[in-house]
Amino acid sequence: MQRISATALLLMTIAIVWSSTVCLHSQEPVKEQTMNQDTEAISTPGVNDLTIKVVFDNNPYIEGLGTAWGFSALITGTEKTILFDTGGDGSLLLSNMKKLAIEPNDVDVVVLSHIHGDHTGGLAGFLQKNHNVTVFMPESFPKKFKENVQKYGAQVVDVNQPLKICKNVYSTGQLGSWIKEQALIIRTKAGLIVITGCAHPGIVKIVTAAKDLMRDDILLVMGGFHLEWATKGGIEKIISAFKQLDVQYVGPCHCTGEKARSLFEKHFNNNYINIGAGKIVTLADL
Ligand SMILES: [Zn+2]
Ligand SMILES: [Zn+2]
Repeated sequence: MQRISATALLLMTIAIVWSSTVCLHSQEPVKEQTMNQDTEAISTPGVNDLTIKVVFDNNPYIEGLGTAWGFSALITGTEKTILFDTGGDGSLLLSNMKKLAIEPNDVDVVVLSHIHGDHTGGLAGFLQKNHNVTVFMPESFPKKFKENVQKYGAQVVDVNQPLKICKNVYSTGQLGSWIKEQALIIRTKAGLIVITGCAHPGIVKIVTAAKDLMRDDILLVMGGFHLEWATKGGIEKIISAFKQLDVQYVGPCHCTGEKARSLFEKHFNNNYINIGAGKIVTLADL
């Protein structure tokens, strides 16, 4: 994974040098904006029209869309249009976007869950199409990575503590001790949607953090659950924890692994969502 990440950074650096016409002004990353612990999250109505399009995943869903190791999803219907993670490869990300009729210039915000190349590798390609975005990334990202993003003309926001990204959309803040990772929380009228990248800090820890932070019910948890190498017993413990947390729907994909996906399907039945490249989840489906 570290090798993939290093390659992605190298490719990004090469792309910047090659593309010498990009905006070269540099700026300091915006300091972390700690979530305002006021009553806004509780008093503002949650979104009632939301669409999540899975742009990049290693699991296939729609024929004709490319698959490769990684994850990326586009969220629309919220105040800002958000690209969560960028997959491992810019050209595949952009070609899948095109096939899904997504215009890169419509994206306002990019949220990067964690540093691994299968989540950040598509960023350089994306920024070449649209640098007019704010990129929220864990504060722990290397300085060089942040500078490279800024060289494209994009704004960088360091995330440490939980924070508000836009109306009804929040970050859990960077969690975990080894690989720091943030997850996205969307507050809907029907409950919270939590989207994870690889869930390195632990999927249950992430969902618990989201629930504690927002003090609301969990409608859906989707993304990579990082259970590829987990045992059946270990996965079943996680499924019971999900039930205890009263998670309504699950959409495990990316690094969740086939064994865990089928166990989640068995335990969640009709509330299991089969996620792969091209899958579209709307609030109306839940
Ligand atoms: Zn991953
Ligand atoms: Zn990872």
